[in-house]
Amino acid sequence: MITSKSNQLKPLHKLLRTLERQTELPAETARLAAQAAESLAHIATFLAEGEEQGRLAALYRVSTMLGGSLNLDEVLNQVMDAVIELTRAERGFLVLIQPESGDLVLRAARNFVGESLSEENLQVSRTVIDTVIRTGEGVVTTNAQEDPRFARQESVITFALRSILCAPLRSRGSVIGAVFVDNRVQTGLFAEADLSMLNAFAAQAAVAIENARLYTQTDQTLAARVDELETLSQIDRELNRQLDLDHLVDITLEWAKRGTQATSGWIALYERDGTTLARVSDPDRGTYLPPSEPVVAQTLVNGSPTAFPPEAENGIPARLAIPLQTAQPLGLLVVESAHPFPEEASKFLGRLASRASSAMENARLFQAVQDANQTKSKFVSVVSHELRLPMTSIKGYTDLLLQGMVGPINDSQKSFLEVIRNNVERMRVLVSDLSDISRIETGRLRLEYAAVPMFGLVEQVVKSLHPKIQEREQTLQIEVPQDLPYCYVDPNRVIQVLTNLMSNAWKYTPNGGQITVGACVQDRYLYVEVKDNGLGIGAEDQPKIFSQFFRSEDEKVREQTGWGLGLNVTKNLVELMGGEIGFKSTLGAGSTFWFTVPIAEAA
Ligand code: ADP
Repeated sequence: MITSKSNQLKPLHKLLRTLERQTELPAETARLAAQAAESLAHIATFLAEGEEQGRLAALYRVSTMLGGSLNLDEVLNQVMDAVIELTRAERGFLVLIQPESGDLVLRAARNFVGESLSEENLQVSRTVIDTVIRTGEGVVTTNAQEDPRFARQESVITFALRSILCAPLRSRGSVIGAVFVDNRVQTGLFAEADLSMLNAFAAQAAVAIENARLYTQTDQTLAARVDELETLSQIDRELNRQLDLDHLVDITLEWAKRGTQATSGWIALYERDGTTLARVSDPDRGTYLPPSEPVVAQTLVNGSPTAFPPEAENGIPARLAIPLQTAQPLGLLVVESAHPFPEEASKFLGRLASRASSAMENARLFQAVQDANQTKSKFVSVVSHELRLPMTSIKGYTDLLLQGMVGPINDSQKSFLEVIRNNVERMRVLVSDLSDISRIETGRLRLEYAAVPMFGLVEQVVKSLHPKIQEREQTLQIEVPQDLPYCYVDPNRVIQVLTNLMSNAWKYTPNGGQITVGACVQDRYLYVEVKDNGLGIGAEDQPKIFSQFFRSEDEKVREQTGWGLGLNVTKNLVELMGGEIGFKSTLGAGSTFWFTVPIAEAA
């Protein structure tokens, strides 16, 4: 009790004053009494000043302590302990007004040794607190039992409340609660000075409470947002892993239900004509509504999440519907529950729908590309099949004519026939490459594996290319050891690979150039390389070298016949046989193309 020291001097002061007024006192005694009264007044002032300073120091200490924590419960307990310490009260209570309901909630109850009080101890005077909160004015009463304002109040009587001190907690102009301290035994414990100190203290405490409240709120909002972002990124990962529309529909529906706490739901997508909406999710999952139903029609018109309340009496669930759309409409997602959906569910569904829509759009595009590829492959396979027969017959008859089997031919007829034969050969290569590509793309290319020596395969290719190489006066060097382990491959396909690489080396190396074919063992593979000192490939062309129909713009390349398909087919064949392919090249200096194939024992 801070006011006690100066207050306790009061009776002594009163006694001296009475003494002074006694006329029959000897003059000297009266003078001494007056002097004593004066000294006493000085002491009282001195004590009061000291007490004031003590109060201010305590207040300062408490306010620095309050600023140190943002944990609401911790702050509230600190507030209570500080109030009890400052007022030397027996117990203290802190009530806050619930922002949502306006109800008073007891948030802290402490005794003078800093222990939290149990529920049974929470016997406080509601009248006093209600008055303080209603009026926004603090209350001090030295003996509630005799105070006309409260003496008749039930709580004051029942709980034998005597000394009470109660101050409002204010924040940003409004009362957010109250601090109440009391003593059930002693009277005259508190004075007005205690109230003004409690008011000053309550003002600071209210700010600390409000800060902690805001912090907790922000903290919770942030945590919820982080949670949602984590969920959304998990959804993104799951959605982006899929290009299959049916799976996407399942994943989207599962997440929609989980994120909105719905019990069921369904997804409908527009068919290819873009106007017919048809259910695509599992029929057991939700009550499908045709496009004519208001839920569907209204949501599509709104273009945003639309909530429909439940009609319990008709057994109709609450529905939350959202259009699935990118640049164009894709469909509709609906979730159902027995209870109305909260605002957050709408927001979540909105975020999910935009992600799911782009994933579904991608899946549709991918499907369309796949379908177009299938159609192309089918077309190529039909055309190449149909062309093969007439080409064989053109080539056959041309050869017959050239060989003079049907009569003599003159020189210009011979040169015309040679043009025809060369062009038919070009067409044969094109048709054969196209047919290979279409079979590779549709997975119809059958490989016939055997364990064979690489040397033998290289020899066969050299034999067929030798005349051309000689014609250009190029040097061919073979560095393939005969005792290499056998490779496990489709021999005809390796011959095709070697032919492509060696004829490229021949085509793109000027007359008199050098071509080297080498092979060696590399781990469980045979490594084969075809090296030339020809045109080489420019840096900007190198990334495109295995793409279909790519040919360098270089004039010297364009002088040679070709379609830009050979290397693409070659790469596919090598990879199908379990190997790898690559090259290094310097423009103007030459190229080295290499590939690997599995060794037979290892395979
Ligand atoms: P094509 O030879 O029918 O044009 P390819 O697919 O075999 O088709 O080769 C594609 C392109 O790669 C060639 O047009 C050429 O520009 C380049 N190229 C391939 N091999 C070589 C090589 N050995 N030297 C230089 N350029 C090459």
